Amino acid sequence: MGRIRVLSDNIANKIAAGEVVERPASVVKELLENSLDAGAMDLRIAIEAGGRRLIRVADNGCGMLRDDALLAFERHATSKLSDIQDLAAIATLGFRGEALPSIASVSRLVLETRAAEERSGTAVEIAGGKIIRCDEIAAPPGTSITVRDLFYNVPARRKFLRSEQTELAHIASLVTHYSLAHPSRSFELTHGPHQLLNVSPVAELRDRVYQVFGGQTMEELVDLGMREREIPEEDGGSRVFVLRGFVSGPQVQKSNRNSVFLFVNGRLIRDKLLLHALSSAYYNLMPPGCYPFALLFLDCDAEEVDVNVHPAKTEVRFRHGTVVHDFVRDSIRELLMERRPVSAIPSRTSPAPLEYAQPAARLPYSEFTQQIENAVFESQPVADLPVFTVHAPSPSAIDAEPLRLPAPDTHGPILADGALDSLAALADLRPLGQLHDSFIVAAGRDGLWIIDQHVAHERILFEKILKERRTGRVEMQRLLLPMVLQLTAAQQIEYARIADELNESGFDTEPFGNRTLAVKAAPAGIHAGDVERLVFEILEISESDLRKVSLDDLRRGIAASIACRAAIKVNMRLDPAKIDWLLRALSQTDYPMTCPHGRPIALRYSTRDILRSFHRI
Ligand code: ADP
Ligand code: MG
Repeated sequence: MGRIRVLSDNIANKIAAGEVVERPASVVKELLENSLDAGAMDLRIAIEAGGRRLIRVADNGCGMLRDDALLAFERHATSKLSDIQDLAAIATLGFRGEALPSIASVSRLVLETRAAEERSGTAVEIAGGKIIRCDEIAAPPGTSITVRDLFYNVPARRKFLRSEQTELAHIASLVTHYSLAHPSRSFELTHGPHQLLNVSPVAELRDRVYQVFGGQTMEELVDLGMREREIPEEDGGSRVFVLRGFVSGPQVQKSNRNSVFLFVNGRLIRDKLLLHALSSAYYNLMPPGCYPFALLFLDCDAEEVDVNVHPAKTEVRFRHGTVVHDFVRDSIRELLMERRPVSAIPSRTSPAPLEYAQPAARLPYSEFTQQIENAVFESQPVADLPVFTVHAPSPSAIDAEPLRLPAPDTHGPILADGALDSLAALADLRPLGQLHDSFIVAAGRDGLWIIDQHVAHERILFEKILKERRTGRVEMQRLLLPMVLQLTAAQQIEYARIADELNESGFDTEPFGNRTLAVKAAPAGIHAGDVERLVFEILEISESDLRKVSLDDLRRGIAASIACRAAIKVNMRLDPAKIDWLLRALSQTDYPMTCPHGRPIALRYSTRDILRSFHRI
């Protein structure tokens, strides 16, 4: 007898479960996707003990016919795909027919379902993949699936589960973001007796964002609107990509990607290509290693994207990857350039901007996740988790509250807050002086401004260098004596790779024997004593994070280094004429908000906050 055997379905399901069901949140994801595929408009998710004890997803979707209720647990049983052609254009979230049998093989599962066209429903109970009962029951139309004791029969998996709070945080994040992808449907998430999310149907994505995150976060976000890119096809037709969603300005800097949510054709995914496009959009606006908040929906023809890359369907492959990448990057970058928001000085006295509709019950999402994270460390009881309860959203009310005071300002009348939020106001600043020889203090029509002189100058130079680079050579200075630098082997290789770019960026360098480099000229404004350090710094950036990025990014990296070295330093007294020049030049830059490394340039203490701090409003 041979040694190879065909695995029983039960074992095959358990193996598949290893891929599909990683943690409680993956169960929630599969069940939610099934409910959405079933056309449900009302989705209720109940969790106990972070999903280990119980996960229940109940919906009012199409339900299952009696005969289908059992079949759904057969491996590769699906109602969504019938032949291989369908796989090229999948319009549903599910298609592999793997989720239910996988989940049922590693838990105790109860399915209760009724198709609208049948008079009674069906209950199926399965434990560890074995069918225990199948009964006719009375049930409302729709489906409810209860998953108890996840991984009870797979101790190895159970051990890998993190704390209750961590698993719950994953679930909360997942449900929240599915609710964002489907504003017209209602979602409720409860953990034990606590309601974590409860959102009613709304017409617009913007309304749902407001429901979920509250007004404060909403103020930090910029609406992408609807951006389109069309690519012609060989057959004369064309493919259209549409990008919608919200991103934060560069002032919102998160230390991880937990606030980045990407949907492709309504499917929540983690995709390297799109993540890279997002990072590139913020390149030079945000420090490396920081991430924005992003909620992006990319929609395209189903044929443009292969979703059958990963069993959990979290990765995709695009037919026109580069087009998609550049489209996403450019759309976001354009938006950030249009917006140019100013960092506000955090004011401890200023209350949250929105105070109608149950203020106590609403919590910005960032704080919500933060509290869950904190709870993980402080092992707080679950009862301390915050609650979202949201009613009648009205984003337009954000700018409803008028200023009540007349105008006592020395700089003309007080303007409604927000109206001059952008750096349009920069050109209009009246410098008052310098603080610690490092910061310029200025009066603006919309409040008091503090500008970091070093980073402001850095931004001015950065854009100047890039502009010069685009139109020809960067302004340079000959060194009196050529400088000879010793390179390591790695630096030598790096040098060979970027020599052309370096020389186009204001340097004049050439190899000078083995592992030595002669530098004969450097960009204007660089102190001779800084040249050596600058060259090594550029070799290093190109070596570290920029190796994999495009020439354009390398160019920006070089420009950023030159700008940083050549810029006015802190602790340097500036005469009024120089201050005037700096403010004027800054106001003429394309992006006067952050330095090329992503630090803020200007802080504004808004007139509104000043009035508020003096209890005048
Ligand atoms: P897939 O979603 O890949 O088809 P699943 O194992 O997740 O595979 O589900 C198997 C089948 O069970 C689905 O194709 C669908 O017909 C049915 N089903 C699962 N969940 C629901 C639900 N909530 N409402 C109606 N039908 C469902
Ligand atoms: Mg499914």
